Amino acid sequence: MKMASDLHIHTDASDGMLPPRRIVQMAREAGLSHIAITDHDTIDGIKTIYQNNKEDDHDIIIIPGVEFSTDMPQREVHILGYYIDITNHILRKQLHILHVNRRDRAQKMVLKIAALGYNIHYDEVLAIAGEKSTIGRPHIARVLVEKKYFPTISSVFDVLLEQDRPGYVPHYKLSVAQIITLIRQAGGIPVLAHPGLINDDSVVLDMIRSGVQGLEVYHPSHTESQIHYYLQLAEKHALAVTGGSDFHATPGRFPDELGIFTIPDQLVFHLQRLSTLERGGCF
Ligand code: AMP
Ligand code: ZN
Ligand code: FE
Ligand code: FE
Repeated sequence: MKMASDLHIHTDASDGMLPPRRIVQMAREAGLSHIAITDHDTIDGIKTIYQNNKEDDHDIIIIPGVEFSTDMPQREVHILGYYIDITNHILRKQLHILHVNRRDRAQKMVLKIAALGYNIHYDEVLAIAGEKSTIGRPHIARVLVEKKYFPTISSVFDVLLEQDRPGYVPHYKLSVAQIITLIRQAGGIPVLAHPGLINDDSVVLDMIRSGVQGLEVYHPSHTESQIHYYLQLAEKHALAVTGGSDFHATPGRFPDELGIFTIPDQLVFHLQRLSTLERGGCF
């Protein structure tokens, strides 16, 4: 019997490298029972999967998700939304605004990087990202790696794209409260993504006070002691515990395969029950 799931996966609808159908195929081959697609600011990957769903796809459950970026002062914070209703109009409208603004931001970053002497054009970023996807910094980094300016995507971040580097432009963003409200009104559960990466546990406590209903305790970036700490924190505040690989299929970024980093199904069942309760249903 299959027992493992992965609740944090990106596709090429945002900055992942693989199309949604390939992700589903890989997840099935890895024997996963549930996966959540959690692209940055878009649900297009999930829509594609649901539209192309075939009979033999039913051995794996695809949970609709999304990952928003926002800022607490000085800290970038990501919020995951699970079991969202992908037909929700308010959600779709906000995602469209974020999508348009991400394209505008990418253009600005390309101009800044070109002004530093790199030969890069926005068209090249579009060619890598595709016509429809939600653009992020990794797409820009991929152009610069392809052009041999840098050996790896992360080295581009180190030199140009981290928050304090010269190619960076901030996100257009919703506030923490707006994101949490947006997810909840779409029937979803807001979960604080990779709290360890925030690198400031007072911000994590602020996020709990703001109303996230879960903590992503299991993430490839977390140490054993962080996992222990966030498990206790989740218990203390009665939060759901989630986790996932944050798979992008980016070479050099762990994990480079689906099925290597997973969580037990019990955690997914708990999250699912919470979402049913939130919607006022019974189970
Ligand atoms: P953006 O959404 O445009 O702000 O870009 C954020 C994305 O860049 C996230 O998916 C991260 O996984 C990725 N990212 C952030 N820092 C790095 C890094 N140092 N190396 C590779 N990818 C990174
Ligand atoms: Zn990403
Ligand atoms: Fe994230
Ligand atoms: Fe992510």
